[in-house]
Amino acid sequence: MTVPVVTDMNEARYRVLEWRKAGRKVGVVPTMGALHEGHLSLVRASADQCDATVVTIFVNPTQFGPDEDFDKYPRTLEDDVAQLESLGVDYVFNPTNDAMYPERATTSVVPPAVAAPLEGAKRPGHFAGVCTIVLKLFQIIPADIAFFGQKDYQQSLVVRRMVEDLNLSTEIQVCPIVREQDGLALSSRNRYLDQPERERALGLSRALDYAERQMDVGETNAAEIMAGMRRTLEEHGVDQIDYAVLADPESLELLIETQRPLVALIAAHVGSTRLIDNRIIE
Ligand code: AMP
Repeated sequence: MTVPVVTDMNEARYRVLEWRKAGRKVGVVPTMGALHEGHLSLVRASADQCDATVVTIFVNPTQFGPDEDFDKYPRTLEDDVAQLESLGVDYVFNPTNDAMYPERATTSVVPPAVAAPLEGAKRPGHFAGVCTIVLKLFQIIPADIAFFGQKDYQQSLVVRRMVEDLNLSTEIQVCPIVREQDGLALSSRNRYLDQPERERALGLSRALDYAERQMDVGETNAAEIMAGMRRTLEEHGVDQIDYAVLADPESLELLIETQRPLVALIAAHVGSTRLIDNRIIE
């Protein structure tokens, strides 16, 4: 049985409200499509914990900057729907841009403070776009639990804070990063990489390994470790480093001295592709 695709938001909401009236626990997995095992792990988590699961597929224009890859972002709906078969997904919500952002719509969410550094500094407006679309999706799909990936660590933190600050009733669950065997974090953007670029992209997970090793041997100077993370990225031939830092996992404040837990976060360009990765070091 192929998974039904719902484009109409009233129908999408009605279905969820009916389930909830019947006492069913509903999970939602928001995505931009071009699905891979990382996304599917979220779907499996939802299917495990909930009685009904909705996957949303929408390439959200408001979270892309003017010079970013919105136009070339992979759109593979048919293949995505095929991948969701037999995972227990009740429907895919795939709205149109015009339905989500009618011309007259001008309201947006001011993101929480934790959205300011790192991705927020490199991608102005990104988290306002993320918060706005997530809030809209939660209104259309009023699920009990929403599943996000740790892959987008700052995003998961931003969404958790928004839910708290705006008293939203959807619970946020953050699931572990799914990686290739060699350590590369799965990402829809990996398909932009040719073979030599893919090798260079390994620098991100290697730099996270480096940070973890330094912590394990008792290095306490965060600046030393961050310098070594940059060195590791450069040795792998990464083209441009947006950031490679150790931060507090809750505030994202940069650390001077290491602590446990901390989060190591990296954003770097390989060719024309921008990649992010992170690791929580307990
Ligand atoms: P995206 O389609 O890139 O917006 O991602 C949709 C959701 O999947 C987000 O919550 C991501 O954090 C999550 N995700 C993406 N890649 C991975 C991965 N490698 N492992 C776990 N979750 C992921």
